[in-house]
Parts: sequence; C-alpha cells; structure tokens
Amino acid sequence: MTWTHWHVAPFVTSVFFVLGVLTLYWATIRSLEAWVHDHHWEIADHTLEAWYGMVYMVAFTFGLQTLIVGQTYNWQFMNFQLIAIIFCGYFLNIRIPPLWLFPIVVAFMAYNHSLFVWQSWGHALTLLVFFWLLNVVQRKFRTTRVAPMMYLVVVVPFGWLLWYWMRLKHQLSWHTVTMQWLYLVVFAILVYSYVIMLTHDSELKQRLQRFASHDSLTHAANFAAYVEASQYWFDKSKHDAQPLAMMMFDIDHFKRINDTYGHLAGDDVLQQVVVTVQTVIDANDSQIKLYRTGGEEFNLLFPDYRLAATQATVAQIFNAVNHLKVIAGGAQIEPTISVGVTELRAIDAEPLDFYNRVDQNLYHSKQNGRMQITSA
Ligand code: GH3
Ligand code: MG
Ligand code: MG
Repeated sequence: MTWTHWHVAPFVTSVFFVLGVLTLYWATIRSLEAWVHDHHWEIADHTLEAWYGMVYMVAFTFGLQTLIVGQTYNWQFMNFQLIAIIFCGYFLNIRIPPLWLFPIVVAFMAYNHSLFVWQSWGHALTLLVFFWLLNVVQRKFRTTRVAPMMYLVVVVPFGWLLWYWMRLKHQLSWHTVTMQWLYLVVFAILVYSYVIMLTHDSELKQRLQRFASHDSLTHAANFAAYVEASQYWFDKSKHDAQPLAMMMFDIDHFKRINDTYGHLAGDDVLQQVVVTVQTVIDANDSQIKLYRTGGEEFNLLFPDYRLAATQATVAQIFNAVNHLKVIAGGAQIEPTISVGVTELRAIDAEPLDFYNRVDQNLYHSKQNGRMQITSA
C-alpha cells in the first residue's frame, strides 16, 4: 500500500469516511456537553446537539464542496451532503421549519455557481420537501417499530428524485445515476444502524448519570449533586468575587405526617413539595437549583444572589408550600416548612462553613416555633 495506490475500493473508503464524520461529531459534542455541564450552564443537551449538529454539517457540506466547486463534476460529493441533510433532518433532535433551510440552500447554490440553473432550483425545492418529510417521519414514527421502514420510504424515492435532478443538470448517464442512488441508500442504511448504536450507548450513559445525581422519589437533584455544585459555586464565587446565597428548608413535624397518614402519604407530600418549589423556581430564575439533601431537608443554591435579593423568591416558596394541600392516605395533608437563608461570607473557608450557617438559621426557625424564615 502506498498513498498513490490505495487498493481499497472508493466505496469502502467512503463508508469509513461517512462513519468517521459522524464519530467526530459524537466525540466533539460529548466533550462540549461535558464542558457545559462542568460550567453549570443552563443549556439542554438536545438544544446543544441540534445547534452544534447544524453548524457542523453546514461546515462539512461547504468545506467538502470547496474541493470541487466550479468543476464540471461538482456533483460528486452529493451523497455525502445528502447524508448530512438526513442526519440533521432525522437524527438530530431538532424541528427546523424547512424554510430555515432555504437560505442555507440558496447560499450553497450561490457558492456552487448554480443560482441561474433551473434544474438546481428543482433540486433545491425537492431538498426542502425531503428535509421536511424526514422531520415528519422522525417525529411520528421514530419510537415505533416501523421507524426504519418509514425512514426508507422517504429516503429511497427522494434519493432517486434528487439524483434525477442531477441527471438533468449534468447529463449524467442512467448508469451513473442508478449507481449513485444505490450508494446513497446503502449509506443511509449504514448511518441509521450506526446512529442507533451510538444513541443507545449514550442514552444508557445519560440514564446512569441521572440515576447517580438525582433522587428517584422526587426527581430532585440529590446530596451528591449538592456537594459537587456547592463546591463549584463556592470556588467560583470566591474566585470571581461574586455573591452566592443559599436557602435550606425542612418539613415541619414530618415524622408525625408519616405516623398519622402512613409512609406512602409522606412520600406523596415530599413529591408535591418538590413540584411546588420547582414551579416557583421556574417562574423566577432557572439558575436557582434545588437539592434534596436529606429525608425531608432541601437546599437551594442561588448563584450570583446577595441575601436581600433572595427575599422575594424565598417568600414565594415559603408561601406556596405552606398553602399546599396534599390529598393522600385518605386525608388532606397541609405541610409547612421552616427555612434558613444565608449568603457567602469572606470568613467562609470551605462550603461546609457556609452550609453550617444556613443550617443554624434553619435550626433557629425550628426552635422559634417552626413555619418561619430566619435570614442572616
Ligand atoms: P421537625 O419539625 O423538627 O423537622 O420534625 P420532623 O418530624 O420533621 O423531623 P424528624 O427528623 O424527627 O423526622 C424526619 C422524618 O422523615 C423521619 C423519617 O422517617 C422521615 N423520612 C425521611 N425520608 C423519608 C422518605 O423518603 N419518605 C417518607 N415518607 N419519610 C421519610
Ligand atoms: Mg422535619
Ligand atoms: Mg429533618
């Protein structure tokens, strides 16, 4: 084997090229996601995947075309570019209206010197419908047993149609068009199987990660997640001289609720309390994070908040929970909470110092008769 005589058939090389492009996407998006998580940014994984995937595939499509733009054989990378379209339209978790794709397609035509070629416009419009149909079948059938069939029902005829436009534009022979179309179908099937394999793996990993950082009863983040996040925000606040506040609350006489209505009713109360608190957080500021740090104890981290700034949200949470009525165990249960609030101080040497103060404030609320807020 030498670089001038590569004895592997171009089709085989192409298969590995396509799979390589996807693998590189996967590897880079995973590190990007890890980086975003490490920095506690509020971007959902699927949003990141969608946008990064689009940018990646646009760069891939244009980049590849650079090699052959202006040549008579400038159709030769079309199967790769169709795979990029299929990847964005079907496999990424995005629902882009096909019209959004329109400017990209027009830019590509301009780049490819084909703005004034009528067959290219026919090709472009077919592409938009193709993209839209890929979106539709993925939304409607992705999780069903007919998913692979529906995928092919779109890819096979549209692949043909798109190559037919190329035949009209470049006077390609029937043989060339048929071979290219068959290659596309084989690529599309390979990509489908490969992506299913990769997503299965990463879904499993995501489930495990979620399991390790979230409590299975209330689905709130757990103590391990709290320890990690409190250390992160503690370090960041110290380093950037930014404020940081924390609220801690504990359900009053929870043991009595369990003893009176049963443990399952107690579980219902915990779940309802979390839903209520999370609703208030979502309505205020999604940077605030809730953690179940004990049985019926919860901590909330307020990045970038001074003590006074927490007051409105803390009061809303306090009122919302104290007005909650949980129907469980054949009764109506009205839980109440005691609250402690504090902010990071210069004397705090480690997150535990910060935690101990909020805990003392909570203890003060309990000692003082419960169902109250101590803020200091
Ligand atoms: P206080 O007002 O002083 O906080 O009194 P309390 O009864 O709430 O406090 P205590 O710490 O004595 O009791 C907490 C109870 O919470 C004891 C435990 O059985 C219960 N608990 C802890 N985790 C769970 C859970 O997941 N489900 C249920 N149902 N109960 C739980
Ligand atoms: Mg309690
Ligand atoms: Mg307790």
